[in-house]
Amino acid sequence: MAATAAPDAAPLEDRPLGRATEVLFGARGGRYPHGNSLLVRGAEETALIDPSLGMHLRRDRLPAVDRVLHSHCHEDHIAGSGLFPDAPWHFHALDLPGIRSLDGLMAIYGFPPGVDAPFRKVVLEEFHFVPRADALAFEDRDVFDLGGGVRVRAIHAPGHTRGHSFLHVEPDDVLYLGDVDLSSFGPYYGDAWSDLEAFERTLALARQLEARWYATFHHIGVIEGRAAFLERLERFAAVIGDRERRLLAYLAEPHTLDEIAAHRFVYRPQDPVPFAEPVERRSMGQHLARLVAAGRVEEVEPGRFLAR
Ligand SMILES: [Zn+2]
Repeated sequence: MAATAAPDAAPLEDRPLGRATEVLFGARGGRYPHGNSLLVRGAEETALIDPSLGMHLRRDRLPAVDRVLHSHCHEDHIAGSGLFPDAPWHFHALDLPGIRSLDGLMAIYGFPPGVDAPFRKVVLEEFHFVPRADALAFEDRDVFDLGGGVRVRAIHAPGHTRGHSFLHVEPDDVLYLGDVDLSSFGPYYGDAWSDLEAFERTLALARQLEARWYATFHHIGVIEGRAAFLERLERFAAVIGDRERRLLAYLAEPHTLDEIAAHRFVYRPQDPVPFAEPVERRSMGQHLARLVAAGRVEEVEPGRFLAR
């Protein structure tokens, strides 16, 4: 299995934040397919948030966990959940179908058959996917009271998936941002269940949220303080505008959506990403649709688009 290979075998860092919270870092700084999980210990219960592949690398020292919470249902965020079969698993109600069956998970991505079939194998073999028919739903603003003043509050933050949520930990004032990961890659809204404009509303919401610590699943890991967070957030959010500007420039000549997807605006042309085509099509199709609606791009003949 890839996650036990030499580059990932380095000791993984566990970093306490405040009195109840601990970041369980993934291999390679949490770079995909790895990620950073959060452990929250209350007086009565311990919750684990987003068990990543890193939990498999900690199999010799797994924490006792009473509840598993998930920011959303994607393969890398549930990769370690199967190590906790006796704890209840929680997801936002809108992402719940993804954990109930492999078909449910694959519907979230919405890949065409040629991408879907090999990715199912990856999800099962490399991400240890375990379906859970009895997983439980939470809603926006639901609170998990872990005892002793330790609470985790869900904040619905859709766009990446329909149910994507932030999780805020009290009293340590840690805001777990899931896949609003503040990376230079920028926001991912390339699944069937993604929504560009919902993601933009989530970014606006994130600007309003105050916390001492901000934690992401990938890349950044932990940021202290609102000023550093807002700086990262603006850089992350700006990638959306960059993609749209590059699309408009490309449409100085008429192009089809097939050509737009092949040109690549989300991934770099040299990146060997097996699902790049459907993700480019889905992501840039949303930009195209709103540029057409705003009158900034015109369908000059069926299926061919030109900037005005
Ligand atoms: Zn995700």
